[in-house]
Formats: sequence, structure tokens, C-alpha cells
Amino acid sequence: MPYSYDPQNIFAKILRGEIPNDTVLETAYTLAFRDIRPQAPQHVLVIPKGPYVTHDHFCAKASEAEIVDFARTFGRVCELLGVCPGEGGNGFRTIANAGADAVQEVPHFHMHILAGRPLGPMLMRAG
Ligand code: 5GP
Repeated sequence: MPYSYDPQNIFAKILRGEIPNDTVLETAYTLAFRDIRPQAPQHVLVIPKGPYVTHDHFCAKASEAEIVDFARTFGRVCELLGVCPGEGGNGFRTIANAGADAVQEVPHFHMHILAGRPLGPMLMRAG
């Protein structure tokens, strides 16, 4: 089934300026801001400004300019946070939840950057 974007999702409202956010970095195509319920000392969300629901949707439908801008902005945010292992940082984890099994809460593609403490194993085994 093709993706259908809900323009009333919370990140769409942030992008329209209807809800405030703690911006880390903004470009023509991408916004990075702090998660409202941080799960690590550093918890930043990187989102494209375009109407994409999931990572695969973004990869399939976004323009090359959007994809390049998103990737470069992601890298710049990691630098700003001081978490890049190649630059003396202690590292970070990237998560992009998509759909029901991943318990995606907000249906606008976003990449979590988590850092600032040891993050433990990648997944908790629930059964
Ligand atoms: P998901 O489960 O969809 O991967 O993650 C959605 C994330 O968005 C959660 O970590 C949640 O805390 C965050 N979030 C939900 N509403 C808001 C909001 O209004 N502002 C910010 N900054 N983050 C939000």
C-alpha cells in the first residue's frame, strides 16, 4: 500500500512553526532538534522537511538534493554534539523506527541520535 502522509502529525506542526522546538541545526531541507523526552544525555531527532513517513519512503521518493542535505546535516549534528568517534567523541547510536513492529510514534521520518552514556545492547529481547 502506498504511503499516505498525515499533515497533522506533530513533526509537521513543528515544521510549520505551530509548536516550538529546541533546534540544533536547520538547513533548506532538514531540521535537527532535541527530543522532548530524552532517553540519553544527548537525544536529537533529524527530520527531512518534506512529507515522508518512514526511512524507506524517504529513500525511495526524496530528491537527491534532499537526501544529500539530510546526510550532510546528520553528520554536522554529530560533529556539533561532539560524539563522532573519529574526532575524539565517545560515539552514538542511530535509530529510525518505521511502522507498527518498530513502534513508530510519529509518522514523519526521523532519525534519532542518542549519545552521552554507554547505550547497552542494541535491542532488548522481549520474547
Ligand atoms: P518514534 O517512536 O516515532 O521513533 O519517536 C518519536 C519521538 O518523538 C519520541 O522520542 C518522542 O519523545 C518525540 N516527540 C514526540 N512529540 C514531540 C514533540 O512535540 N517535540 C519533540 N521535540 N519531540 C517529540
